[in-house]
Amino acid sequence: MWQENVPLSGFTSLRVGGRAEFLAMPRSVAELAAILDQGQGLPLTFLGAGSNLLISDRGIPGLVICTKNLRGVSFDEATGTVTVAAGEPLPKLAWRAAQRGWSGLEWAVGIPGTVGGMAVMNAGGAGGL
Ligand SMILES: Cc1cc2nc3c(=O)[nH]c(=O)nc-3n(C[C@H](O)[C@H](O)[C@H](O)COP(=O)(O)OP(=O)(O)OC[C@H]3O[C@@H](n4cnc5c(N)ncnc54)[C@H](O)[C@@H]3O)c2cc1C
Repeated sequence: MWQENVPLSGFTSLRVGGRAEFLAMPRSVAELAAILDQGQGLPLTFLGAGSNLLISDRGIPGLVICTKNLRGVSFDEATGTVTVAAGEPLPKLAWRAAQRGWSGLEWAVGIPGTVGGMAVMNAGGAGGL
């Protein structure tokens, strides 16, 4: 379910940083739930695409969960809402919305992060959302 002592430098844009004590990369919400259940009591850190992270050379203790494999987008034309999994890349989401004629995500097309990272970082908060 997870790997031990994994170098994290390849998980960030800056390509630096130490190791995760444990690393999990769930592919579904059910898998994520099982990982969280099994990892109870461990310190928990989430990673998205790693575009806005500087990881210490000392690494990260406990369980690191990288959500970039959590994928899925669903557009509801009736309500004008989009439901997106945390690992979806922002530029891809912006393009898919635009291809449907939906506006509002234009600002996200050049951001190299995921939806999970966007929510936590309040991306677009300077006027885009
Ligand atoms: C070239 C560039 C241009 C940018 N332009 C803009 C811009 O125009 N407007 C703007 O608002 N922002 C901009 N940003 C910042 C951007 O919003 C963030 O880099 C991006 O949202 C981070 O997403 P990520 O998936 O890479 O997250 P990461 O870098 O992996 O993580 C960032 C933070 O989010 C947390 N996190 C990530 N995923 C999850 C998750 N699934 N669950 C819980 N926590 C999570 C991490 O723990 C960390 O604290 C830019 C960044 C870059 C590098």
